[in-house]
Amino acid sequence: MKRFLAAVAAALLAAATPAGAEVVDVVVQAGHEGRPASCAPNHVRACNIGASSAAGREILWTPIVADAMTARLRAAGLRVARRPADYPEHDTARIAIFIHFDGSEPACASGSSAGFPPSTSHAFVAAWERAYRARFPYRFVGENISSNEEHYYGFHKVDAPQKMLIEYGEITCPAQAAWLAPRLRELGNLTAQFVIGQLH
Ligand SMILES: [Zn+2]
Repeated sequence: MKRFLAAVAAALLAAATPAGAEVVDVVVQAGHEGRPASCAPNHVRACNIGASSAAGREILWTPIVADAMTARLRAAGLRVARRPADYPEHDTARIAIFIHFDGSEPACASGSSAGFPPSTSHAFVAAWERAYRARFPYRFVGENISSNEEHYYGFHKVDAPQKMLIEYGEITCPAQAAWLAPRLRELGNLTAQFVIGQLH
């Protein structure tokens, strides 16, 4: 009977989930990945392809962080939906992380920051800030520092109690970019460890 009820519950959940959507532990989105090609088919008007500088391009960095993070989470036995910038699915997860690097004019006016919707617990965001401040030797600029961060479109693509956009640092600041560039996989691992800690 128990097994039957579990099967019924799974069938109901599957029926309530739109085609292609996933029920997972973690959604990992690489900011800007797949653009600009993904914008038109997904009806995205503000097709922001991300920050760039002589040191690198955000759109090339975010997938490296996201892939390292995903590999570490899956190695820990967690279910992960690894998403690009634009996609039709609407996922359900426990935690959703959106990976970005900031750009600034003038250069070096920014640093690391975090964006999150009102539904996300502040303790979750504060725990991330503590973990990342211990590692990142540059400025932490703040929380929801721009409208793009506070009202990030990606937050509407997933149902999850905890959703957070991470700006790991400023790619247009030479000193920050020089620190970030050789550490992209490490940033993914660090974020995965944080997520694993939050899920246990
Ligand atoms: Zn970005």
